[in-house]
Amino acid sequence: MKNISILGAGLVGSLLAALLARRGHQVQVIEKRPDLRASDWDDGRSINLAMSERGWRAMRTIGLEAEVKKFAIPMPGRMMHDPQGKLTYQPYGNEGQAIYSVSRSLLNQTLMDAAERAGAKFLFEHKCTAVDLQNSLPAGQAGILEIAQTAPDGTKSEIRPDLIFGSDGAFSAIRQAMMKRPLFDYSQNYIEHGYKELTIPPAPDGGWAIEPHALHIWPRGHFMLIALPNPDKSFTCTLFFPWEGNPSFGQIQTPAQVNDFFAQTFPDILPLMPGLQTEYFANPTSALLTVRCYPWTYRDKVALIGDAAHAIVPFYGQGMNCGFEDCVVLDEIIGRHGDDDWAAIFSEYQQSRKPDADAIAELALQNFVEMRDKVGQPEFLLRKKIEAHIHHQHPDRWTPLYTMISFSNTPYSEALAVGKRQDAVLDEIMRMEDIENRWQELDYGDMVPEASPNPLRRRGLKKTAK
Ligand code: FAD
Repeated sequence: MKNISILGAGLVGSLLAALLARRGHQVQVIEKRPDLRASDWDDGRSINLAMSERGWRAMRTIGLEAEVKKFAIPMPGRMMHDPQGKLTYQPYGNEGQAIYSVSRSLLNQTLMDAAERAGAKFLFEHKCTAVDLQNSLPAGQAGILEIAQTAPDGTKSEIRPDLIFGSDGAFSAIRQAMMKRPLFDYSQNYIEHGYKELTIPPAPDGGWAIEPHALHIWPRGHFMLIALPNPDKSFTCTLFFPWEGNPSFGQIQTPAQVNDFFAQTFPDILPLMPGLQTEYFANPTSALLTVRCYPWTYRDKVALIGDAAHAIVPFYGQGMNCGFEDCVVLDEIIGRHGDDDWAAIFSEYQQSRKPDADAIAELALQNFVEMRDKVGQPEFLLRKKIEAHIHHQHPDRWTPLYTMISFSNTPYSEALAVGKRQDAVLDEIMRMEDIENRWQELDYGDMVPEASPNPLRRRGLKKTAK
């Protein structure tokens, strides 16, 4: 049994706490925020998230699938709103397949409850203010965490656990300490868009103002608005918009400008957002970045997990799903190594996860262009129809990329590689003469690549990290 400190009681830290406590470890989770379950704490981040198969697999692993399904709203497809308000619906997968809108707060609370039931202890309103991973620590200690109470008097204390997990998000304090070690690679890249959350409240009759069973997108070329449903029949909208330029957050400075911009750009949504002008100025504008680093572990003592290891932009709806998959994979590796050889556990964990984290980071960046621009184009919709048709004709040889990412547990790196091959085939098909009229008549059998899953991953063998 190990004395384990987990830094950060977000989605990933709370799930990890449940999994490690279930294995009999003494787990303490240190969190700078107040307990979500006893306060209205709002950290200004996305109110709801899209959960897909990798997230559900984690929920099944910890026995929470049924509980989380109670507050999850299925979104089987995306609904595009063009500038004239015309709607186009596109299913994400086959009949019965959906991604789900879940409340970040409710999910986090459910995971904290599960971790406590498994025996984990949470220390809220305690911030890690310094991390010392020095070499000269006495045998057995992972490092020293300096923990300061965030309220009321800032009293400081030190803890010296056997193992430390950094699930403290994109600006991880544990990662900053690891960065001081030699041979630690690190990059962070902001995109030129920020985001702001806005609300569509329930309709005056108390019902939904727009279709609840869809992820709504207003693609506008260089930027977009999306909306996900909430259980109280409201929608949380997110405007992904450049920081500077024309148009941009920098340019829209007055309530009248907000109103004019929405009237011109999103005319169908404006009447449904009575609080727009207030919310636009009251809600924060936040930045979006990709963080890549390696190694994710230090000796057999310290490991990064979730956004601390790999923050990604949100356009594939996979950041949390990927962090949950980290936990499930780590738990399986621990199971195989018998809870003892942490050097082997950490080595296998980072080598297996790093290529997948890099792959989903790349896909997430690519998907921004698809969502904000391509989904509004007839050619893209035709391409998707043809792809669904090929999948239907050759289900064992062609699984669309979106399906591999969102409705399967295919490693992200394998999905990315297969997706690139499929893209080349679809490019060729789209160049065929009169394809828009002939696509249903053709048999694409000769063009469809043989299914070629990565044999190493399928056999559960390790891949070397990039
Ligand atoms: P975090 O959620 O960042 O949690 C870190 C925790 O550590 C926090 O509670 C923080 O308070 C605590 N902490 C940090 N530093 C300290 C410290 N020094 N001391 C003590 N505590 C500390 N993912 C999806 O899968 N689907 C989606 O639809 C989706 N939509 C998104 C939309 C937006 C706009 C954004 C920004 C992200 C979205 N994501 C989505 C990504 C998802 O939010 C993250 O991947 C996920 O929250 C990562 O969880 P985490 O626990 O690793 O980190």
